[in-house]
Amino acid sequence: MSILGPNFSSRPVVRIDLKALKRNYNNLKTLVGSKTNIAAAVKADAYGLGADKVSRALYGAGCRIFFVATAGEGKEVRAAIGDRATIYVLNGPAPRDLTLFFGSQLRPVINSLTQARIWEEAVSGVKEPPYSALHIDTGINRLGFPENEFEKLVKNEALRKKLHIDLVMSHLACAEDETSAYNKAQLGAFKAKAARLPMLPMSIANTAGIYLGKEYHFQLVRPGIGIYGGIATTNPKKEKVEPVISLMAPVLQVKVLKAGQSLGYNSTFTATKDTSIAIVGAGYADGIPVASSSGKGTGLSHATLQSKRCPVIGRVSMDLTALDISDLKKRPRIGDWAEFFGPNLSDDASEANTINYELLVRLGSRARREYR
Ligand SMILES: *Cc1c(COP(=O)(O)O)cnc(C)c1O
Repeated sequence: MSILGPNFSSRPVVRIDLKALKRNYNNLKTLVGSKTNIAAAVKADAYGLGADKVSRALYGAGCRIFFVATAGEGKEVRAAIGDRATIYVLNGPAPRDLTLFFGSQLRPVINSLTQARIWEEAVSGVKEPPYSALHIDTGINRLGFPENEFEKLVKNEALRKKLHIDLVMSHLACAEDETSAYNKAQLGAFKAKAARLPMLPMSIANTAGIYLGKEYHFQLVRPGIGIYGGIATTNPKKEKVEPVISLMAPVLQVKVLKAGQSLGYNSTFTATKDTSIAIVGAGYADGIPVASSSGKGTGLSHATLQSKRCPVIGRVSMDLTALDISDLKKRPRIGDWAEFFGPNLSDDASEANTINYELLVRLGSRARREYR
């Protein structure tokens, strides 16, 4: 047996706390109250956490409506949760995906007249076709019916009937900033447009939209990031959210960098004094942004070892990251875990010039997922 014991592995681990995830979902549910239904956005493999496990956990917490981006994602979620839930596909119908829509009973979000025509043709002659959602663009100018196409759809009742629409939705561009006037403008446009169609359940709020208040909740909200432990708004104090994930990297080597010695690719870090460092087994292949590399000796981002924040030093490489462990009381042992992200997810994101969403979805597939 090796001197490190049989359980040592150089493979990083993503720890995912499904209980915390459910608590986050339930907190949002409490926040919107019993008159509003609460779906979950589980696109992009549930923001990198594993659509299968996450969807099942949320289903267990009572969630019955799920949003994914593509039909392939929908198929996976359907396999995880069974037939008694609704799955909407945000990117809408496309010819090559139609068998997935019908095979997994997925509801397309119809974003344009072109998509309406695709779906109209797809369901013609089908006995009980899946319902669909209608996405009206109210100013994000991404997906969704633009003004001129919406006018045509309003006038074309025959087409609307064939689509079997059961939800009218829109999406907010600036919800993270409660002071933005754009929110009210989009809300107003959404109400005005929806009023021109027969009455249907409405939905405009993602996580940040939920925090904008009751007027934004309508019949359905669609949070994602807040379920996964991310901060959704520019006012984190008002968000009740628990961390859900940590990226754990094993300490592979501990050494002293002598004053004047440099470290890592391009020698971007040079020790100004003798510095204890740990080399840990996770890098940008696992989702630690290269942009969290240190510049001229001050770590931009951190990992936590022995409950202390240890600055990242040198350039993050594909499989390895170096930490300054000068402040630790004990020399770490090989196989000890350094924790990345965790409760610091949002700070780490801003230090690395990105958003916490990106840190989650970029968690690499190499790390073993450990659900608890
Ligand atoms: C991703 C997404 C959501 C969830 O957004 P969060 O900011 O993660 O809460 C809701 N609606 C749509 C249309 C989305 O694309």
